[in-house]
Amino acid sequence: MMQGQGAAWPTRASVVIVGGGIQGLACAFNLARSGSKGVLVLDAGYWQGGASGRNGTLVRGGFGSQAWIELFEFSTRCWQDLSSTLGHNTMFSRRGYTMVAETERTAGVLEDTIHLHHQYGVRAKLLSGRGVRRVLPAIRQDKVLNAIHLADGGVAPHHAGMKAFHAACIEAGVDIRYRTRVTGIERQNGRATAVLVGDHRIEAETIVVAAGGFNLALAEMVGVTVPGHSMRIEAMALEPIRPLIGPGIALIDSLCYMHQTARGEVVGGTEVPERPRMSLSADFPVLARTAGVYARLFPQLADLRILRHWAGLIHATPDWAPLIGPHPDLRDLWFSAGWSYGWTGGPGTGVLLARSILEGKVERRLQPFALDRFARGAALVDKTIVM
Ligand SMILES: Cc1cc2nc3c(=O)[nH]c(=O)nc-3n(C[C@H](O)[C@H](O)[C@H](O)COP(=O)(O)OP(=O)(O)OC[C@H]3O[C@@H](n4cnc5c(N)ncnc54)[C@H](O)[C@@H]3O)c2cc1C
Repeated sequence: MMQGQGAAWPTRASVVIVGGGIQGLACAFNLARSGSKGVLVLDAGYWQGGASGRNGTLVRGGFGSQAWIELFEFSTRCWQDLSSTLGHNTMFSRRGYTMVAETERTAGVLEDTIHLHHQYGVRAKLLSGRGVRRVLPAIRQDKVLNAIHLADGGVAPHHAGMKAFHAACIEAGVDIRYRTRVTGIERQNGRATAVLVGDHRIEAETIVVAAGGFNLALAEMVGVTVPGHSMRIEAMALEPIRPLIGPGIALIDSLCYMHQTARGEVVGGTEVPERPRMSLSADFPVLARTAGVYARLFPQLADLRILRHWAGLIHATPDWAPLIGPHPDLRDLWFSAGWSYGWTGGPGTGVLLARSILEGKVERRLQPFALDRFARGAALVDKTIVM
């Protein structure tokens, strides 16, 4: 049975978006803002129940390749203006973001990367020695070879960012229904035509799948495939301490990300290989590895207690880059999928995806993320990703 938010159930919509995380809401908001009527968002879970309510909240525009930089730098700029764009406070804090190299190989990657950052307008500095001490005084200096500091990165707590998107969507006329699972997608004559919620059918001109860790299941419902697999990512929060860490941090060699919240908690996580994929339970290996990385690089954290530890599901792709655009095998079926940095990428992708759907032409910055890139041998390589 459907559990809508009270209003009568539509049988027709201009755009149905499956998934009410940041990707779905950002797309919906920008469609409605551009004048689209009848935008409907359906979400199986509760508000913020997906990865958009469970992430590390870090935002950065500097990566190691043109495609990533152009999309994510644009999105980071969107984050900076987002409170005024949405008319609600997202609590984005531009505290900077530092990418740290602990090995010669990664130090070389950062030396190459800084030129790309400057070429594409990212405000970034390559640091070593005294420069690293100034930005990250608490890190073990003898473990760091160099770092790139991104002036415009930062953090945006999900309760505020999601609340702002949700409120702005409602004000713009988007119909959002949580606790409403899409159980089928119909196709006819080479196009996706309707979504099913149990025995209720909603005809749509366009369907956008933004279902996070469940994108593959949605694709299967309509008989198409998308690359990648679903996987679990975990994070943890330490008890509050005095201000120790200013910017967001990516420890590229340790596959670890972290920051200190305004409350003083250190929040972050790391990845261990071969994790079970479709479970929200958090367990010991990630917790132990994250604690090990913290203790090695920030000895001041070693005696702190772990306050919370949680997991979220994402859709990981073979090159860790998102899948954005129309499906090559079915007309009027679009995806905003494969997101590992989807919190950072949400605001900018919402703008560009809505524009692409309305114009029927994929925006230039989204084109490298096309769903058929693996089949074309055009996978995206980026050596600065931490997952
Ligand atoms: C622990 C962790 C740390 C992270 N840290 C960061 C970070 O610091 N920075 C960053 O940029 N990214 C980070 N990420 C990744 C980021 O959270 C995701 O990439 C992003 O939230 C994806 O947004 P989304 O809208 O695609 O998916 P989600 O937020 O997962 O939303 C998908 C929605 O689809 C709904 N859904 C699923 N199936 C159906 C169905 N059949 N019918 C209707 N609805 C359905 C779900 O209920 C869900 O609400 C992290 C993720 C995790 C888990």
